[in-house]
Amino acid sequence: MVSYKELGLVNTREMFAKAVAGGYAIPAFNFNNMEQLQAIIQAAAETKSPVILQVSKGARNYANSTLLRYMAEGAVAYAKELGWENPQICLHLDHGDSFELCKDCVDMGFSSVMIDASSLPYEENIALSKKVADYAHQYDVTVEAELGVLAGVEDEVSAEESHYTRPEEVIDFATRTGCDSLAISVGTSHGAYKFKPEQCTRDPKTGKLVPPPLAFDVLHEIEKKLPGFPIVLHGSSSVPQEYVDMCNQYGGNLPNAIGIPEEQLREAAKSAVCKINIDSDSRLAMTGAIRKHLAENPGHFDPRQYLKPAREEMKKMYMHKIINVLGSDGKAE
Ligand SMILES: [Zn+2]
Repeated sequence: MVSYKELGLVNTREMFAKAVAGGYAIPAFNFNNMEQLQAIIQAAAETKSPVILQVSKGARNYANSTLLRYMAEGAVAYAKELGWENPQICLHLDHGDSFELCKDCVDMGFSSVMIDASSLPYEENIALSKKVADYAHQYDVTVEAELGVLAGVEDEVSAEESHYTRPEEVIDFATRTGCDSLAISVGTSHGAYKFKPEQCTRDPKTGKLVPPPLAFDVLHEIEKKLPGFPIVLHGSSSVPQEYVDMCNQYGGNLPNAIGIPEEQLREAAKSAVCKINIDSDSRLAMTGAIRKHLAENPGHFDPRQYLKPAREEMKKMYMHKIINVLGSDGKAE
């Protein structure tokens, strides 16, 4: 049993309380390799933004769960080395799908876990989420649970159709599970193909696809039911067109990739939404930069040659999100 407190990590309780009160959101960036982690920590340290490092089940399978945990421990030391005296870094399990997986993460030093039982019937979702919360809270680990279904594909998580969170259920759900934050479904979606072109309209000037707006009415109703309670948005990459274009220009094939417009995320960040999950944008920035570099430098074969610009592109993207979208810069001095 390793406590996250010994590793210098923090849970989400205080960062969420401040974010809700302050009208901003904490970035939750997924990572599964060193370059992503370096870029995240550099961006957070430079902007003094609290940050949530997210590890999915797929990332654990890809990189090895023990190694990822040590990387997060190293990230705290690295942040201090970069001059961030009091780093506010949370290590969070993304989409835990069983009690055993969540327990394993709590036991190995995670400071926060998500139990995603949203595909189960309501009462079973409550029972499993409560079981995880009861266990995690013994060690002061915070718990995110989910109500409602997001469409899209993310690692092992996928659903054909979304259904919005029902505001009339949230008080009962939050009270009975004891969860610390609630992931809701209000129109965001996993992956780089969040909407089909037929769900979108076309901007007559630019010809670009414009996705349907988030269901702010549902979000505001949920906020009214649970005043001040931390709300989480999954699937909130904006799928920047410049990275999609970069991929496509240099040999990629990502037709009609589409995300959530940043203005909508900015608006959401001002509400009780205090954690915004971003994964696909990092994948796109990295792949775009690597494709460009290799196309322009066909003789390069040292991974450092193409991973360095990829890392720089990701860092730029993370800093942009922190400063211009979530507003979390300067909140962890
Ligand atoms: Zn998710």
